[in-house]
Amino acid sequence: MTVMPAAFFGHGNPMNALETNRYTAAWRAFGEAVPRPRAILVVSAHWYVQATAITAMPRPRTIHDFYGFPPELFDVEYQAPGLPDLYDEVADIVHPTWVGADLDSWGIDHGAWSVLLHAFPQADIPVVQLSINALKPFDYHLQLGAALAPLREDGVLVIGSGNVVHNLGGVSRALPDAGFDWAQRFDERAKELMLTDPTEVGRLDGHRDYDLAVPTPDHFLPLLYVAGVAGATGTPAEVLVDGYSYGSLSMTAYTVGMDTPATAGSGVAAPLPDGPPADGANI
Ligand code: ZN
Repeated sequence: MTVMPAAFFGHGNPMNALETNRYTAAWRAFGEAVPRPRAILVVSAHWYVQATAITAMPRPRTIHDFYGFPPELFDVEYQAPGLPDLYDEVADIVHPTWVGADLDSWGIDHGAWSVLLHAFPQADIPVVQLSINALKPFDYHLQLGAALAPLREDGVLVIGSGNVVHNLGGVSRALPDAGFDWAQRFDERAKELMLTDPTEVGRLDGHRDYDLAVPTPDHFLPLLYVAGVAGATGTPAEVLVDGYSYGSLSMTAYTVGMDTPATAGSGVAAPLPDGPPADGANI
């Protein structure tokens, strides 16, 4: 079977699910360029819990884990099947790390479906999610990502979905398509590392701008899984698309192990709805 690439997507705010812009164009180009996977394993910023678990239900539900957005976003359904059999395979390759089988608590959250709607619009490839264990240090996530790398040879596409820079409290409506200097410094350093020595992104907590760029680790951690795959396979990442949204969100996306498709989309990342964007919006 063809060896799958891996990829990280900066998903931005959930309205990107319904918009067409240069980021969503890049996500679509990615989906058109990859060989058809047997399954997609997504590490999403939005399944950040006190355990390491994998969804193992045959029909995962579409989760609308946000509020303050228009009704049409709550009507989105991404009805990809699950793949319960993948649980045993993953539990085996990550051993002795323990991973639980989630049968009824999660599904496909907006970190996953906002990207998958563009990359795989047919929703006919099985999707499983791997939770991010909030109790674990950076090295755990890097090592777990590395342990997942052999799945690439078994037709499984590993995707991380978060944002390298994600500071909702710092959002500036005056900067719909730009990043603050600290956001740019952090994102550019992450980029240097991903392109040369990927696992070193696990040391970015020592960067001068870390506290502003990563006020909470949930959106940063999915990058570590993709960096772990890159490190384990000796394959530095490439940039699929990059840019900023509202000053304090980086939209940078990376691929690992594929010829990055040329993308020709235009337009800024999706606008936020009116009202305070960071007020519990959970994006
Ligand atoms: Zn998010």
